[in-house]
Amino acid sequence: MLRFENVTKRYPDGTVAVDDLSFEVAEGELVTLVGPSGCGKTTTMKMVNRLIDPSSGTIRLEGEDISTVDPVKLRRRIGYVIQQVGLFPHKTVLDNTATVPHLLGWQRGKARERAAELLDLVGLDPSVHGSRYPDQLSGGQRQRVGVARALAADPPVLLMDEPFGAVDPVVREHLQNEFLKLQATVRKTVLFVTHDMEEAVRLGDRIAVYGEGRIEQFDRPQTVLGAPASDYVAEFVGADRGLKRLSVTAIEESDLEQPPVVHLADGLDQAHRRMREQGARWAVVLDDQDGLHGWIPADGSAPEDAHVSTQARRMEAWLPLGSSLKQAFSVMLQHDAGWIAVLDEDDRFRGVLTPSRLHQALRRSIDADSQDIAREEVTLQTVAG
Ligand code: ADP
Ligand code: MG
Repeated sequence: MLRFENVTKRYPDGTVAVDDLSFEVAEGELVTLVGPSGCGKTTTMKMVNRLIDPSSGTIRLEGEDISTVDPVKLRRRIGYVIQQVGLFPHKTVLDNTATVPHLLGWQRGKARERAAELLDLVGLDPSVHGSRYPDQLSGGQRQRVGVARALAADPPVLLMDEPFGAVDPVVREHLQNEFLKLQATVRKTVLFVTHDMEEAVRLGDRIAVYGEGRIEQFDRPQTVLGAPASDYVAEFVGADRGLKRLSVTAIEESDLEQPPVVHLADGLDQAHRRMREQGARWAVVLDDQDGLHGWIPADGSAPEDAHVSTQARRMEAWLPLGSSLKQAFSVMLQHDAGWIAVLDEDDRFRGVLTPSRLHQALRRSIDADSQDIAREEVTLQTVAG
């Protein structure tokens, strides 16, 4: 979809900002470019929409050499979001969002309709925020408008240069999560620049770790964290890469433990018997829709004919399947819980995650990567022989 072929950028003063760069981004893929300040990330981006032209090499968009495409026409196919957003201060949020459809000659009504749709998509209510001016918004809201505006003409490619860099960490995490949800529906081909490793691994399908003007490693986040390609990468991802791994490893069904399950309407006697049979000290309690209610301890005496509902306790520590191990860990800490419930997308109970299972899941992801590496070595040997 987007392809760099031996691209070099040498600025007039002799600085080589990008040095013989080759890589490809697949359609619908989100690639993060991560590296320290001054390593050539912004230069890479600006060559895609021809704000800067390469000194040598070729960039192709959908197979076409972009140096042969009129820059104005090219930029209509590429949404661009930057940190300073660049909203027009004298225009309302709605008109700012409608900028590109406007330039494309859409009818005013249609352009504004599209803008309202997009504001809604990025979590801003067009009837509330649409008529405001940029300086009446928070930093996070302005970034959302920036994203909405970049998407307004429905370009296949999105360039994002540290778009969430200027907002505080809590808002940033919120924007990142919203952006991931948005990307799951719009499936753009995205190049996303950041100097924050945490952000790179959270967002990227693959990440490109930049050294000076070069890519040091280009791979899935798990692999970059689990098997850094060089000392430079290992140093950049940091000594806490084990912790960062928690945020890119998802809870799977096979990670879950299956304690006894009882229902609110079950007899207490029967519930106690089931726990004894399974040697369990507690059971998960579900409501009559199989939704999570809480738990019940195995001990405790019960009046005759009592139901589970009389002794069940509420349980708030739960997560959907597919959440990261980091989220699981943080929910455990937050609720001071020895286990958390895991539900599927229909809110049905699927099992529980315990600290030992969490550790096992982390091992699983490391083992999977070392197998990948072993396989690569085998292939190399075969080729050499
Ligand atoms: P990043 O976005 O990773 O911080 P940049 O792509 O902005 O890095 O810059 C890469 C290198 O090119 C830096 O050394 C920077 O000083 C240099 N550079 C950027 N723009 C210019 C320019 N217009 N003229 C000369 N050098 C530049
Ligand atoms: Mg930059």
